[in-house]
Amino acid sequence: MIPYGRQDIRKEDIDAVVDVLKSDFLTQGPAVPRFEEAIATAASAPHAVAMNSATSALHVACAALDLGPGDSLWTSPNTFVASANCARYCGADVDFVDLDPSTGNMCAQSFADKLELAERDGKLPKIVVPVHLAGQSCEMDRIGQLAKRYGIRVIEDASHAIGGAYQGKPVGACEHSDITIFSFHPVKIVTSAEGGAAVTRDAQLANRMARLRSHGITRDPLEMTHEPDGPWYYQQIELGWNYRITDVQAALGTQQMARLDQYVARRNALADRYDKLLSDTSVGLPGRQDDALSAFHLYVVRVEADAHRRIFEGLRQRGVGVNLHYIPVHLQPYYRQLGFGDGDFPNAERYYAEAISIPLFPTMMEEMQDEVVRALLSELE
Ligand SMILES: *Cc1c(COP(=O)(O)O)cnc(C)c1O
Repeated sequence: MIPYGRQDIRKEDIDAVVDVLKSDFLTQGPAVPRFEEAIATAASAPHAVAMNSATSALHVACAALDLGPGDSLWTSPNTFVASANCARYCGADVDFVDLDPSTGNMCAQSFADKLELAERDGKLPKIVVPVHLAGQSCEMDRIGQLAKRYGIRVIEDASHAIGGAYQGKPVGACEHSDITIFSFHPVKIVTSAEGGAAVTRDAQLANRMARLRSHGITRDPLEMTHEPDGPWYYQQIELGWNYRITDVQAALGTQQMARLDQYVARRNALADRYDKLLSDTSVGLPGRQDDALSAFHLYVVRVEADAHRRIFEGLRQRGVGVNLHYIPVHLQPYYRQLGFGDGDFPNAERYYAEAISIPLFPTMMEEMQDEVVRALLSELE
């Protein structure tokens, strides 16, 4: 089976992990700050806070922006459930903004329209979480401007998009957002096995996220309610969690980050080649924006809804490990219980009925890619 994605682990990755295992620190040692520096550099943001997953980073980001009961967070229905769940962890409500059918990203116009209605009803969200589907940035200039106008904080879910760029700046530069989140799960662009990070330009937010990652504990006397009792002293000044990443994982992640540009270039070369090989077929190709360089975490094609399931199953039978991104979040039983249902976000539902993620990963050979295209074309006949 040709998988839809696959990590690339090399000897230098294994050596770096083994070095940590032989060192004094398995966690809370020097490897984590090194990883954070690599992430901040790649994102062109001054601060990075690494955590044990992007899910944790989303939760901490929401908490650091004081999301709580009575507040609401808006995201895209076309995402992994974690982009919405982070609000629920904080006791806040979730709502969704339908997508732009061409890119699968949150539609800036729908966002504008929904904000206008929400303002009238006194129901503006506190946070919006645009998700950079497949690695291509949302229209962050428009989304950021709207958020500013209505006083809404912005968390970019860039779990797919590290190494991508938008209007000439790396994704993560936070030009139009407060915080950007990355994931280092093995299917993503670079991996630390499990892992995630929050990057920001705001030193105070970074400090608070680092504190929330580790129980809400501070060792900084300036943050304490009184002078330290002694050199052993720390204070828990708010409620946080243990969302720390280990040095073992951070060492792997740092090695992977050194190959980020290589990975993104290879993914783009393969995506361009898919575009060419599939250009004269009935398959819908991923919509591209002129002002974005996608990291191409995924290559999502679109087929006729009534042939979708047959083609999907046929490809799996032919040894092509296709996948589907995403089942609309609002149609998950958990979100249906909260009042969402069929027809609420028609563009997301149509996307789900047509989308197939075909294999794309940096070690994919052109012969493998040709095999995928041949299988897809046979299924279309
Ligand atoms: C993978 C993913 C997440 C969660 O990442 P983890 O590191 O597995 O917690 C969140 N949002 C999106 C869009 C993702 O693809």
